[in-house]
Amino acid sequence: MKILVTGGAGFIGSAVVKAALAKGHEVVNVDCLTYAACLASLDDVAGDPRYTFEKVDICDRPALNRVFETHQPDAVMHLAAESHVDRSIDGPETFVQTNVMGTFHMLDAARSLWEAKGRPDTFRFHHISTDEVFGSLGETGKFDEETRYDPRSPYSASKAGSDHLVRAWHETYGLPIVLTNCSNNYGPRQFPEKLIPVTILNALARKPLPIYGAGLNVRDWLHVEDHAEALLLVLTKAEPGATYAIGGEAEAKNIDIVQTLCRILDDRRPDGAPHADLITHVIDRPGHDQRYAIDPSRIRTELGWTPAHTLQQGLEETVDWYLANQAWWEPLQSRDGVGTRLGQSK
Ligand code: NAD
Repeated sequence: MKILVTGGAGFIGSAVVKAALAKGHEVVNVDCLTYAACLASLDDVAGDPRYTFEKVDICDRPALNRVFETHQPDAVMHLAAESHVDRSIDGPETFVQTNVMGTFHMLDAARSLWEAKGRPDTFRFHHISTDEVFGSLGETGKFDEETRYDPRSPYSASKAGSDHLVRAWHETYGLPIVLTNCSNNYGPRQFPEKLIPVTILNALARKPLPIYGAGLNVRDWLHVEDHAEALLLVLTKAEPGATYAIGGEAEAKNIDIVQTLCRILDDRRPDGAPHADLITHVIDRPGHDQRYAIDPSRIRTELGWTPAHTLQQGLEETVDWYLANQAWWEPLQSRDGVGTRLGQSK
């Protein structure tokens, strides 16, 4: 297939681009290169004749129309988004613009191509979303495909809005969409503003390791390569209109993730041990969701997906990747907002 991937210079998008090429697909990567993008993540594939990069903003409709007309993709995997909750608290407008309006433009441009091609059943518009649209869980229970939407941050609200648009384009126009809601991802090439890379890189620099509040918020972690495999499975095997919840069934409190990373670093860099001495509790995020957990039974039973990484093994591999790839992360440290506390306003 020729797959148009949006946000392919981001953390998950770059893993998807590489996984798609590895499976023999052609890829057109549409990304406008925001602060969160890193083209170096795609150095391995940049010279592949089956890979094309288009520096285009998904809100720029004429440019988007040109991309669809030029490349005539068989499928779309839509990952481009503003993705950091703290930034959405400080500046929600960009989130509404990119996540809601950008998704609208993607849907409408894809629909034009799909109709011009004679509405093929084989076409897919795959919208990649988050479990954060479901809000916050208590001590028990899990999100699944039937869970009611209850977003609580500007980020999750804008992603919820985009999910609704995608389903509306299926119900109203018949566009063959598929939609996935995934839990927190981690792994190599994650931008150094999210919990795991911030912890690793601050620990290496002997800087405080910030923990929001008591650190008792629970997330369900999934390795980014396991997510990319799941996404390609959904793209190629799921029925039009289908939704899948994706998660690693690896729940952990934030404080436990940070403690685990510290123990791994104590082993790899004993001169800095104990790294846990750097843990510093800071004021909590306003509206901080308490717990996310996914029941991935549907994707496991219907599509036969299973994640390959355990959380411990995946975290060790991730620490080792950051230790070995300073040339990737060092230039990102000077990007706008990195290293400063964002999203404190109430
Ligand atoms: P990211 O912030 O690392 O990357 C986003 C990419 O989108 C960047 O390359 C950026 O340049 C691009 N982009 C942003 N606005 C754009 C625009 N207007 N036009 C074109 N490109 C634009 O994000 P990520 O963590 O890789 O997440 C990718 C997708 O997966 C998002 O839709 C996110 O909501 C979803 N998701 C993320 C997670 C997670 O844990 N990171 C979990 C579930 C779902």
